Amino acid sequence: MAPHAVIDDEGVPEPSTNGVEERHQGYRSLPVPEPCLSYWHRTTRAFPYLNENSDEEVPTSTKYLIIGSGLSGSFTAWSLVESGVPGSDIVILEAREAVSGASGRNAGHCRPDAFRGFSAYAKVHGAEQAKKIVENEKLVFEKLDAFVKEHRVPCDLNSTTTFDVCLTPEFAAYERESFEAYKAAGGDVSHVKFYEGEEARSRTKVKEAVAAYEWPAGSTHPAKLGQWLLTAVITKGVRLWTHCPATAVSKHLSSDMVGSPRWDIRTPRGAIAAETVVHCTNAYASYLLPRLSTFVTPNRAQAHSFIPTASLSGAKALDKTMSLRYSLRQFFSLIQRQGDGTVVFGVSRSNPEWSEETIHSTVTFDDTVYNHEIAATAAKAYQSLFVEAEPKQRRHGEGADHYWSGIIAMTPDSVPMIGAVDGKDGQWICAGFNGHGMARIWTCAPGLVKLMKGQPWSETGLPECFEYSNERLERNKNQELKSVW
Ligand SMILES: Cc1cc2nc3c(=O)[nH]c(=O)nc-3n(C[C@H](O)[C@H](O)[C@H](O)COP(=O)(O)OP(=O)(O)OC[C@H]3O[C@@H](n4cnc5c(N)ncnc54)[C@H](O)[C@@H]3O)c2cc1C
Repeated sequence: MAPHAVIDDEGVPEPSTNGVEERHQGYRSLPVPEPCLSYWHRTTRAFPYLNENSDEEVPTSTKYLIIGSGLSGSFTAWSLVESGVPGSDIVILEAREAVSGASGRNAGHCRPDAFRGFSAYAKVHGAEQAKKIVENEKLVFEKLDAFVKEHRVPCDLNSTTTFDVCLTPEFAAYERESFEAYKAAGGDVSHVKFYEGEEARSRTKVKEAVAAYEWPAGSTHPAKLGQWLLTAVITKGVRLWTHCPATAVSKHLSSDMVGSPRWDIRTPRGAIAAETVVHCTNAYASYLLPRLSTFVTPNRAQAHSFIPTASLSGAKALDKTMSLRYSLRQFFSLIQRQGDGTVVFGVSRSNPEWSEETIHSTVTFDDTVYNHEIAATAAKAYQSLFVEAEPKQRRHGEGADHYWSGIIAMTPDSVPMIGAVDGKDGQWICAGFNGHGMARIWTCAPGLVKLMKGQPWSETGLPECFEYSNERLERNKNQELKSVW
């Protein structure tokens, strides 16, 4: 069925509205230079590979060329090495400093959907795929949790539970319907707990809570996670070139032998010939694959860090994460870091209080700035939902800490693009995460590597609707721009 849905901050499609919608004209850009720094970037400036090989010419050839050093790129490299590929056969190109895309700028949540998105996904992809999408998210968190524990990754993982906090009776009713629909379709909800009224308020500590659902989820320091992965693969021989955008991929001139380079990748510091190219470029994928310019829409998302006052400090710090929802379109996300107590507060991409100008300004590749109106909404909601002290009562150092933005990749059918790039033998893609990559990359990147090794889609365990194909692009080509409202 042709989708007609916008996607919420957790990657879940929502019904379309009659809000601002435009014809999709197509978007293409390299990452812009000098992006702002996120909280995560500001606390990892000493990462030794941050500007790796930033002045060096690229090597003339490699077997595997991964474009993008976010979690998709680094976990693809990790999975290739795990599958037996020598690290020295892999080169990663990154346009800016290491992990400078969405992976280093998100709201820190690894928060699988437990049931809410089922109905909306079902409208786009059918009930069977929708169930697989939700099940896959649960698996991602389990895999990430196990990976971090097995490898003792120092990425501040807080493996806990999360609340979906319903702040209005209408949204509580919607959640109830979604829960029942998923359950009726055979979805497993045995890990989901439900509270209402006073119990919801006391468990969540949110005074406006009408009802709440709770299930396993977590938070991480995503830049530390990405940097650890890069360090691990570099230690195994993978080579990283930062500040080195791939500007074009073209057919290698003499690719007549099996195993010889098939593609030439241009960069400002020379050309590199590769047998296999993996696009882990998320919102920027269409720059090298122009056909995607009407499929992937960039959207600037924003997050905010606050230093809590007494109400969320010490023993009152929150060890559970949450999504605080007035409606499908108007919500906030919260994690509180267990080490330094910093609160990271995310916002939905729409809000009835925002001006048209603000709403339109989010469709952009520009992550050098943040939007003040969105930040003001976040600060106000954080203070009122958690009864934080009024500005005049705060001590110097409490309150707003840092605001930042990053670019996410929206697709009209709300799911990522994984697999072979049709018609470009030897090119692969793992991108288009709809602002929800933390709940997807941990199965998508290893799944892609299985495909690259010749295994069938069924071995990936991924929902079939994630598979990249020209047919999928065609099917969606006349869809209106979804991420503008
Ligand atoms: C503010 C914000 C909040 C978010 N909150 C959450 C959340 O709480 N939970 C969640 O699951 N997800 C969240 N996300 C989304 C999540 O961060 C992304 O889905 C995920 O990080 C995507 O990872 P990636 O590796 O595919 O893309 P990216 O991390 O964007 O990596 C792509 C990389 O490719 C590089 N690149 C692009 N083009 C080229 C080129 N031509 N040459 C060389 N390099 C290139 C870019 O510079 C970038 O480093 C959020 C995102 C933002 C911005």
